[in-house]
Amino acid sequence: MGFASQLIPGIFVFGLIIGSFLNAVIYRLHAGRSITEKHSICPRCKHALGFRDLIPVASFFILGGRCRYCNKPISWQYPAVELVTALAFTLVYSQNGLSLTTYHLLLTTCFLIIIFVYDFKHYLILDKVLVPGVVLAVIFQVWRHNFWNGLSGALALSGFFGLLYVISRGRWIGFGDVKLGVFLGFLIPWPATTVLFFLAYIVGAVVAVILLAFGAKGLGDRLPFGTFLTLAAFIAMLWGDEMVGWYLRLLGLT
Ligand SMILES: [Zn+2]
Repeated sequence: MGFASQLIPGIFVFGLIIGSFLNAVIYRLHAGRSITEKHSICPRCKHALGFRDLIPVASFFILGGRCRYCNKPISWQYPAVELVTALAFTLVYSQNGLSLTTYHLLLTTCFLIIIFVYDFKHYLILDKVLVPGVVLAVIFQVWRHNFWNGLSGALALSGFFGLLYVISRGRWIGFGDVKLGVFLGFLIPWPATTVLFFLAYIVGAVVAVILLAFGAKGLGDRLPFGTFLTLAAFIAMLWGDEMVGWYLRLLGLT
C-alpha cells in the first residue's frame, strides 16, 4: 500500500490520540505510576479525568487551560505534544505511505518524543525508554540488512559523546546522552550519522535562541542536549539519506 492523500486527516487524528497517550506515559514515568493504569488523573488535584477532559488539544482550549475540578492551570505541554505527534505522524506517512517501514518509524517517533519531552522537563533520559528503543532500532537494521552500519553509527556517536563525557567529567554532556548515542546511532546508520551529528548542533542553536526569546530558559540554564539530539534524529530519520547524497554531490564525490 502506498501513499493516499485522503488518509492524511485520519493519520493526523491518530497522531493526536497517540500524543495524548504519550503525555500520559511521560507523566506516569515521572510519577512512578503504571503505564497500563486505566484512568488518567489531574497531576495537581489527582481527580480522575473523564472523556470530556481527554479530547486531544480541544479539551485544553474548551477548559480554558484549567482543570475542571481544581481550576489550576494545565501545562501547555499537553496540547503541544499532541499537535507535535500529529504533525510528526503526518510527515512520516507523507514520506513513506503505508508500509512496514512506516509502522517502525511511527513507533520510533513515539520513543523520540518521550525522550525529547522527558529530557527537556527533567534533564534525564530513562533506561526504561532507551532499552526498548535500542532493541527496536537494532531489529529494524537487521531487517534492512544494515546491522553493521547501524553498529558503526552507534559506536561513532556514543564513542564521541563518551569522549566528551570523560574529558569534561560529565559537565558538557550527561551519561544519558552517551547511552542515547547507541539508540540514535542504530536508528541513523553510518554514514547518515554524521548528518545527525551536525543537525543536533544546528537544532541546538536554533532551539536555544527560541527558548531564550520566550524566556522559557535563561542564559545560565543548562540546556538538555538529548532534546536537540532526538529532534535532529527525527529529521535525519526522514531525510538523512537525501542529505548525505546532497552533501556528496556538493563535494563532487558522486
Ligand atoms: Zn485538577
